[in-house]
Amino acid sequence: MPGKNAPGRKQQDLLRALPSVEELVEAPGLVDIIAQFGRGFVVGSARSVIERLRRDILAGKEIDPDDLGPGPLGGAVAETAARIFEPSLKPLINATGVVVHTNLGRSVLAPEAIEAVVEAAASYSNLEYNLEAGKRGSRHDHITRIIVALTGAENALVVNNNAAAVLLALSVFGSGREVIVSRGELIEIGGSFRIPDIMASSSARLVEVGTTNKTKLADYEKAIGPDTAMLLHVHTSNYKVVGFTAEVGISELAGLGHERGVIVVDDLGSGVLAELPALGSEPSVHDSLAAGADVITFSGDKLLGGPQAGIIVGRNEFIEQMKAHPMARAMRVDKMTLAALQATLSLYLKPEEALTRIPTLRMLSEPDAALRARAEEMAAGLRKVLEGAAGAEGSMGAAAAIGVEQATSKVGGGALPLLELDSWVCSVIPTAITVDDLAARLRETDPPVIGRIHKERLLLDARTVLPGQVGAVIAALSQALEMNSGRQI
Ligand SMILES: *Cc1c(COP(=O)(O)O)cnc(C)c1O
Repeated sequence: MPGKNAPGRKQQDLLRALPSVEELVEAPGLVDIIAQFGRGFVVGSARSVIERLRRDILAGKEIDPDDLGPGPLGGAVAETAARIFEPSLKPLINATGVVVHTNLGRSVLAPEAIEAVVEAAASYSNLEYNLEAGKRGSRHDHITRIIVALTGAENALVVNNNAAAVLLALSVFGSGREVIVSRGELIEIGGSFRIPDIMASSSARLVEVGTTNKTKLADYEKAIGPDTAMLLHVHTSNYKVVGFTAEVGISELAGLGHERGVIVVDDLGSGVLAELPALGSEPSVHDSLAAGADVITFSGDKLLGGPQAGIIVGRNEFIEQMKAHPMARAMRVDKMTLAALQATLSLYLKPEEALTRIPTLRMLSEPDAALRARAEEMAAGLRKVLEGAAGAEGSMGAAAAIGVEQATSKVGGGALPLLELDSWVCSVIPTAITVDDLAARLRETDPPVIGRIHKERLLLDARTVLPGQVGAVIAALSQALEMNSGRQI
């Protein structure tokens, strides 16, 4: 038995058989690889391959001495070098049923928005150039007009994301002063956006009022003092306090703020622009403006269905102050974002168009029959492939039991935490491997498919699988299931 510290005879032999980095790089098989990636990268890759093997040998792993020849080692070096240049960001299929899935990139852009991004990327543009005057212009101007037209706000500004929008508002109006927030609204979103932390980095002083479940207008009233700069209302996007609750609506808050000369800011989170029955209870930008909020912030890539962005609308004087703050420069959006956002917002001019062209809205409003048909299409395609494979091998057992079931999907993106949308799923129960193994294999297919596991079944939710992706889901699943019948693909 090899000792824990001293390598045994077999290990010593293996270590001696390892070539040096220099010897490995000179392997004849690597000539083409050096030509492709350059000698520096290949030397680095050779070093990491040898180090990895040395560690494996010392750890007592079973290693075939034949694998240490120049051929197999050269192949490992080539693979390691190639992996450095492989894109790490990969398209995948979202079969989770969570529509605005932050970990999976939130919103898929509308075709119009994709085209606009490509155009903006491929050419110079009048990004900050006024074509009429022939001199410097402002990048904000490209997007202000349409946001103002759609929301009815006096002015608008777009920054990198909604977290930046909130930070900017706090820095411009609350720095060194007091900002009053209800204890029921001290939210954390996505693990890193926490109202108290954002407040601290803006150097605004947080003044908490009320309790977790009840905050009244009188609580705000009592807390307003000479140092109060802002009443901040935060939409509790990803949770709901139920039971004995009381919160102060934005119109009461705005009334109080205006009476006492304090700015009222409403962080809406998702921000809804379109009339969607499914989203009835999510606060809309129009409602917040009508209620009298001075400044409203919301995300571009949540329920709006556009690119990552933070949209700020509100009273002209406040928006101008925000535009002029040095921090706004550090949060400015890129031309591709502006192009995608403009194209997405253009679709909102005709609400029925927004519902069909913007994937996030289309997924949220897709009729039951269409969802069921897509789940059945997945199941039928999969059964056909599996039956074919079982027949060809003369085997009786199928690799999985396939079904179609009703299920519920979620909006995601921290919107409507309790809302469950009725959906249809294709369910897969593998016979020869565990459902966790199946899920793991599906993360390795090209493209990967991410489903959800429920009661030992893998569920593929039709709501978030794009209509053109059904074939790819079937191919990925049959590949993942067939791997267990010994036929490696
Ligand atoms: C999502 C959310 C944010 C953060 O928005 P990002 O666009 O992810 O930066 C801030 N506030 C609320 C209420 C949210 O729901």
